[in-house]
Amino acid sequence: MRAAGLDVVSLAAGEPDFPTPDYVARAGSRAIETGDTRYTATSGTPVLRKAARRWWQQTYGVELADGELIVTAGAKPALHMALLALVDDGDRVLIPAPLWVSYPDLVSVAGGVPVVIPAAPERGFVLDPETLRAQARQHAAKGLILNYPNNPSGAVATPAQIEALLRVAVECGLWVLSDEIYGSLVYEGAEFRSAGSFAFARDRVLLVGGGTKSHSMTGWRIGFLAGPKEIVAAAGRIQSQVLGNPCTISQAAALAMCEADDKADVAARRAAFDERRRWVVEHTAGIDGFVLRPAPLGAFYALFDVRDLCARLGTDDVGLTQRILEEAHVALVPGAAFHAPGFIRLSYAASMADLQRAVDRLAKFATRVQ
Ligand code: PLP
Repeated sequence: MRAAGLDVVSLAAGEPDFPTPDYVARAGSRAIETGDTRYTATSGTPVLRKAARRWWQQTYGVELADGELIVTAGAKPALHMALLALVDDGDRVLIPAPLWVSYPDLVSVAGGVPVVIPAAPERGFVLDPETLRAQARQHAAKGLILNYPNNPSGAVATPAQIEALLRVAVECGLWVLSDEIYGSLVYEGAEFRSAGSFAFARDRVLLVGGGTKSHSMTGWRIGFLAGPKEIVAAAGRIQSQVLGNPCTISQAAALAMCEADDKADVAARRAAFDERRRWVVEHTAGIDGFVLRPAPLGAFYALFDVRDLCARLGTDDVGLTQRILEEAHVALVPGAAFHAPGFIRLSYAASMADLQRAVDRLAKFATRVQ
């Protein structure tokens, strides 16, 4: 539509609109200029692995020993290598919806069987321990993928909720792959607590993290996988065959990120996202048919309940998203993509000007179609 000259506002992308911080980008440039462009150790340079463990401790309070972390080419490859290391053919892996789109396919690629646990909007999209226990038993599941703060709902599980889920995971013999890539982006007093910070579950939990979202490093392709030594080492051996080493230049940039004293900088970006989040919550509250309950508290997404509107219009979330695109020229993502039919995701990782234009168009669309 844009190519045809139409003015489309896209709130579909899951990436920050901020540039990579200067001190990070410059470290990458410097690596090129100084010839730091050769192969490295396949699981990341020892200096970066050490710095990343310190970063994780300082950022999320998780102590990691030598050998418990490898560097990967982003969070997605970290998930992929971890699943290849953990999943045997036919193993069932539980994935609570709404879920990030890649999880089921990554489980399948590893030879496993993804089992999606239906979304629970009435629980603020946080999985409840009883459901987990029932599903783990029913499917004789081997693993569980957690993602809080969540893409696409923005849900943040409280420390008590994470602990309760981990207790069930331990009881049922599940390993847990916790994708914490949005861990630095929580708002309004919400507390992020890493699944790796519960000692009783340490030998069952693998963590995925990095600066992709907090430091606008989406294109650098760099991230971390942490957890029990044998599993992390196995993931590293797989990586050594399929990737070689993570990009040397990006490792230099990640080292600058880990070594920087940049809490204020991260906080400033978080505050900017929070301002947009508040604005979206406030200004969509009056739009008939787009219900945001509860308000998102993490990441940079809002997941609207449009089930009533879909019923009234005789369509589903895919059809409604298509109509919004064609009639209001706003691009959003249908909940079906995240196994949350009846919902629509808006990403507020966009300028205030774009948010204002999009919300204005949505409001007019909603009035017109009622
Ligand atoms: N995990 C979640 C929940 C995401 O939303 C995304 C990107 O949108 C990723 C992982 C991918 O991160 P990376 O770009 O570091 O591979």
